[in-house]
Amino acid sequence: MTDTQFDVVVIGGGSTGTAVARDCAMRGLRTLLLERDDIASATVGTCAGMISSGLKYSDEPDIMAMCSKEVVHFSHIARHIISKNPIIAPLLDLSDAASDSSYVDSYSAHAEERAVPSMLFLTPEASREIEPMLHPDVIASVYYEEFFIDPFRLCMLQALDAIKHGAKIRTYCEVIDFAINHNKELEGVVFYNRVSGCTEKVRTKFVINATGPWAHKVASAAGEKLDIRLNKGAHVILDRRVVNVGVTVKAIDGRWVYLFPHENTTLLGTTALDTWEDPDSLVASFDEIEYLLQSIETVLPSIREARIIRTMEGVRPLVPEWKKPEGMVTRGYQVIDHGANDGTKGLISFTGGKLVMCRHMAETVTDIVCKKLGKTATCTTHERPLPGNEVDIDIVGLSREYGIALHALERMRARRGADMMKVLELTREHPEWKTTVCTCEPVIEAEVRYTIREEYPQTLNDLRRRLRLGTGPCQGTSCTYKAAAILCEELNLGGDDFLVDILDFRAERWKGIRQSLRGEQLAQDELTQGMYACVGNLDQSDVDYDVKPWEEGC
Ligand SMILES: Cc1cc2nc3c(=O)[nH]c(=O)nc-3n(C[C@H](O)[C@H](O)[C@H](O)COP(=O)(O)OP(=O)(O)OC[C@H]3O[C@@H](n4cnc5c(N)ncnc54)[C@H](O)[C@@H]3O)c2cc1C
Repeated sequence: MTDTQFDVVVIGGGSTGTAVARDCAMRGLRTLLLERDDIASATVGTCAGMISSGLKYSDEPDIMAMCSKEVVHFSHIARHIISKNPIIAPLLDLSDAASDSSYVDSYSAHAEERAVPSMLFLTPEASREIEPMLHPDVIASVYYEEFFIDPFRLCMLQALDAIKHGAKIRTYCEVIDFAINHNKELEGVVFYNRVSGCTEKVRTKFVINATGPWAHKVASAAGEKLDIRLNKGAHVILDRRVVNVGVTVKAIDGRWVYLFPHENTTLLGTTALDTWEDPDSLVASFDEIEYLLQSIETVLPSIREARIIRTMEGVRPLVPEWKKPEGMVTRGYQVIDHGANDGTKGLISFTGGKLVMCRHMAETVTDIVCKKLGKTATCTTHERPLPGNEVDIDIVGLSREYGIALHALERMRARRGADMMKVLELTREHPEWKTTVCTCEPVIEAEVRYTIREEYPQTLNDLRRRLRLGTGPCQGTSCTYKAAAILCEELNLGGDDFLVDILDFRAERWKGIRQSLRGEQLAQDELTQGMYACVGNLDQSDVDYDVKPWEEGC
């Protein structure tokens, strides 16, 4: 065991784990966060990013009230990475509106708190004025507003703030074992460093297991049985903004599905299916994609004209309620103090919860740890801003001053708020770093270099999560080489690393692209392969292209 002693070790670098590390560090606890991959590399990166009013959970008034309060907190501490988006629910049948009328009251009860209007009913004319692509049979629509947050940036900013308050964050470190004494008390954590290939140990009496859909596996390493209900969900990403506002509609099974404008693309989601598969190996299925397309097609008939550029699949770590369909399972969370149930003392696990609740979950568990440690510090995470939130930024003035396109600056502001000034400062000494690296997003070279220097990426995929680089319509075809070259220069990596990084990046993209291969996307992928193989002379033999594309549309 090494001598390093921490008050608390947090396992998992998703929205929950980074929120917990931030709260613990802000309350003065010596905190270590261990993540087996990169920050925001799992479930949180596959979610819609809605910090929801809890509309779907109108039968859980406490959860709705909590969600609404959390939205208010995020609007205060993270206003630079959130947006308020209008949504319409077009109706083809008035019975839909009647059966859902309870939602209207529940939503409207907390609307004022979130500074949004109460739910409105729109005429077909007004609906089509907002969204001209609507089906002619739409007879009315329901209008409401929800908030969205960039889940990758939220995790990153929570992690950076935790570091600012003294926490240590170690990515690519997988917890594989626990040191537990004969009194069933935790004494330490054993983890495998995937970069160095070494096994390391640290001392601690408290571990927060914030590993989402892996929580039961991590608990089992301490000999604990943890019940959890895993439920998978797919998203389809379209190559452009096909709608002006969010659109929600009931699917064939009566569930609500949605289409949200998302940066320069559109997000179509989501499915909800109980799963017993390994969360690491899941991909969206043909059925899930078709279910989503068919549902939205009922109100937006032209949806299939857009090109699917990617799909993604995530797993909800739900509270293990039985004899209920997924939609009726609580969206609340459980904190399991294993020691209180005659298990390992000091080990605390989460099940359930949502992105919108991550700060609240962190507050609850940090209160428990502080009490056990005899610390009196109270929670301030709802008051103290995340990095970059401090002051407003005049994008128009900056565009003139620095000679950088307004659109590029607007995207930079949405990622880092006032901290974008640190990026722009770099261009004073290096005006050549104003060059655009990723044109879809867009991202300039100065921001890529700043991110490598300040936000601890180790691979191109890490850069993607921090910058959205390579996530647009071309899926990285035009930026991969440039970004890899900058990464290698900044981190002093060699030619082999350069190639491995590009292949890893391509393999990760391919995981989501292969399900979308049909019609226009087949042609696009041929072009992409041509560019990598001919222009880049890149051997992609380890990428599995021998996959049977969808029969129809080929
Ligand atoms: C399709 C879908 C849509 C969703 N949409 C929304 C939404 O719009 N709004 C909302 O509020 N919620 C939404 N959710 C729910 C939300 O995404 C999750 O509740 C939340 O992201 C879970 O975050 P987490 O940090 O707990 O888990 P994760 O993001 O999965 O983080 C857990 C981390 O633990 C790490 N880990 C696992 N094992 C180990 C180990 N042994 N050692 C070290 N690290 C380990 C993993 O690598 C991972 O990074 C959605 C979920 C899905 C699946």
